[in-house]
Amino acid sequence: MESIDDAAAEIWGSGGRLTVDLGALARNWRTLADRAADAETAAAVKGDAYGIGLEQAVPALAKAGCRCFFVALPQEGIRLKALLPSATVYVLNGLLPGEAARLAAAGLRPVLGSMAEIDEWAAYRAAGGDGRAALHVDTGMNRLGVTLDEAAALADRTEALGLSLVMSHLACADQPEHPLNAAQLGAFATAARLFPSLPASLANSAGLHLSPDYSFDLVRPGIALYGGRFGTDFPALEPVVCVEARIVQIRSVAAGETVGYGATQHVKRPSRIAILSAGYADGYHRMAGSSDGAPGASAFLHGRHAPLVGRISMDLMAIDVTDIPEARRGDHAELFGPNIPVDQVAASAGTIGYELLTSLGKRYRRHYVGGA
Ligand SMILES: *Cc1c(COP(=O)(O)O)cnc(C)c1O
Repeated sequence: MESIDDAAAEIWGSGGRLTVDLGALARNWRTLADRAADAETAAAVKGDAYGIGLEQAVPALAKAGCRCFFVALPQEGIRLKALLPSATVYVLNGLLPGEAARLAAAGLRPVLGSMAEIDEWAAYRAAGGDGRAALHVDTGMNRLGVTLDEAAALADRTEALGLSLVMSHLACADQPEHPLNAAQLGAFATAARLFPSLPASLANSAGLHLSPDYSFDLVRPGIALYGGRFGTDFPALEPVVCVEARIVQIRSVAAGETVGYGATQHVKRPSRIAILSAGYADGYHRMAGSSDGAPGASAFLHGRHAPLVGRISMDLMAIDVTDIPEARRGDHAELFGPNIPVDQVAASAGTIGYELLTSLGKRYRRHYVGGA
């Protein structure tokens, strides 16, 4: 009888494992900080640090040297402050009605992105509040931010509003040739000049790679830290996340038969099909599945790629291991990680790596490696 090895015992009860390499995260931050040269390098850690886990990511980033963080929501900022009280934390989604005093009391800095938010923040400050805030100026994305004219009218209220940063966000930084980049850069340079006493911030991961002009005083990379692709012209940094699912059974399928729901794919030869214990309930995008004429993503095991066969179910998916005779029940197969870029699976599903990472399922056994 085989003994249960430690690795197997550790993952008992789950259909797969998710390994997060905090060492790679820290190295990616330092790579970006080197590239940003004189600008300060912050980190976007919204969405539970792009799915990898805020509680683990923030200490690793802090140890690498990061002091300034961007979250989307106050609840994320509160978790972050509990981990790292000294951190500067900006809340990108700004202020909802009545939140100003609470946000400031939590030590968080809202990114004010509309005149309604400015008015509410001004009232809080006029009543004696000493919280700090960033001003978001829209330079062409039309999502968040005040107009350049509105910003101009606020320039002499910098101190009254307790502003500590002026920022904007690029809509097309992942497409270096897009004309909106230069237009936004020009508009933001104008905005930054209105607030000469404030640090200015424009670049996300892709913006940081467009040209040094985009870096200003502070850069805010997100996806590049987590090993995702951030543009067409640059390779991703080190992968941080590896997702693996286990083989629950291997079956023989005769040529001409189909696999899975909808019978969308016929196998062309007598095949060995491995059934993996993970599916779309684990955040593996259903659209990455395969059908006749439209091949899907693949998995990776024993040094080889195994194409997905048929649709992805809630808790299961099938891969073709006919050419991988070593494949056995219980084996782990990589779904994405060092051998299969997350963006490759995302492309098979018609989406982006950001979405796969932020949807990482809760059923994997999580392992954090490479941390302090
Ligand atoms: C998410 C976000 C970032 C980080 O973007 P990446 O493309 O992940 O580098 C930076 N700034 C703002 C305003 C964001 O919303």
